[in-house]
Amino acid sequence: MDAKDLIKQIKEDKVHFVSLQFTDVLGVVKSVDMPLHNLEGALEDGVWFDGSSVEGFARIQESDMRLILDPDTYAVLPWSPEESKRARIFCDIYTPDGEPFDGDPRGTLKRMIKRVTERGWTFNIGPEPEFFLFKGTNGHGVHPVPHDVGGYFDFSSFDEAVTVRTKLMEALMSMGIEVEVGHHEVALGQHEIDFRFANALKAADNVLTLKYTVKAIAAQHGLTASFMPKPVFGINGSGMHCHQSLFDDKGNNLFFDAKDEMKLSALARSFIAGQLKHARALAALVAPTVNSYKRLVPGYEAPVYIGWAQINRSALIRIPRYTEGRDKSMRAELRFPDPSSNPYLAFAGMLAAALDGIDNNMTPPKPLNNVNLYHLDQKERKRLGVGELPGSLAEALSELEKDAVLKEALGQAAYETFVRAKWEEWDDFRLRVTDYEIERYLEVA
Ligand code: GLU
Ligand code: MG
Repeated sequence: MDAKDLIKQIKEDKVHFVSLQFTDVLGVVKSVDMPLHNLEGALEDGVWFDGSSVEGFARIQESDMRLILDPDTYAVLPWSPEESKRARIFCDIYTPDGEPFDGDPRGTLKRMIKRVTERGWTFNIGPEPEFFLFKGTNGHGVHPVPHDVGGYFDFSSFDEAVTVRTKLMEALMSMGIEVEVGHHEVALGQHEIDFRFANALKAADNVLTLKYTVKAIAAQHGLTASFMPKPVFGINGSGMHCHQSLFDDKGNNLFFDAKDEMKLSALARSFIAGQLKHARALAALVAPTVNSYKRLVPGYEAPVYIGWAQINRSALIRIPRYTEGRDKSMRAELRFPDPSSNPYLAFAGMLAAALDGIDNNMTPPKPLNNVNLYHLDQKERKRLGVGELPGSLAEALSELEKDAVLKEALGQAAYETFVRAKWEEWDDFRLRVTDYEIERYLEVA
């Protein structure tokens, strides 16, 4: 869409305001709001803003940053009221010298994607963000009380969850997201909405769109939507499994090989080998919160050990079953990402790890097809060469600090700010005295 078409569309849609959006390194969506009459100029020259107060952006003395609008990301926000209708446009961030700012997460992903487009390839991702809907508490804070009593894929026409989920899917489709399915997940109050795979940049934009749309529509129904990885102890957490593939410029799936026993190409195997090799450091990007590591524990369908397999859901990378004739759907499902991640940085890291595998012709270990990895003891895991994901954010950050490939992929500014912010988050947590400690030690100590 060019600027003229966009202005025409905006007028037709009767939009009054446009939110110009970007994220900080943590994945928090930031917005500069603009009334319609200024948009034409903004599309031409960009919009100056003060970046100094945004996590990871400029230092005070060089705080001027410029937003460059990406017109292809225009979408009307369906929950905004008719009389002050809003749309959003995602933006890229530039420095005053007209260079892409290397602390901009969307720019980081774009830089990584360039490395595959140069080869004539597209990196596709189909993310599956899971989330909980909790009962609202009339402004008295949020208590994680699941709002429904449904189970996995349950259907009941009276279920409020079905009503809310239908509204969510309608809203997302009106914003141009190709929703494939929405269903109840395993845990009480837990849901998943899957959308069609897209190139990594669009997939990351879609994840942000899905998250804030789900939150806005849930709030209209008196519910709180949460993408926290493990909000309730003892039941499944929320993941964001990512189905990945590489296509060539003719639209052929480079992961497919008719002659291979698993129908998986050598290129796909190297891709997988790279991600397995970097998994412990990649954890810091795809599972980036203190709480992420409460999800990555045995027994809740989330991965814990570093192995790959066909079908097997306990593996870190799962190859879904191949259906005759569906060469395009050959893919590798990475199961440890969760929706608390910044999708731009997570996808940039996933791609960097995979390309390292491809460029160095790595081969993965044997797939663990009929093994439940949760049931292996340490000795057996060692024998099979199966490593373990980090057990905490601190462990993951220490791994990231040692991983030259991922550091280079993030770029200096994004890497430094990310790591600084995440160590602060870890320290903040470490200093707290938790309910668990009081229950465990107060009386017996
Ligand atoms: N909720 C599980 C997780 O934390 C995944 C369930 C599923 O396989 O969809 O990864
Ligand atoms: Mg799921």
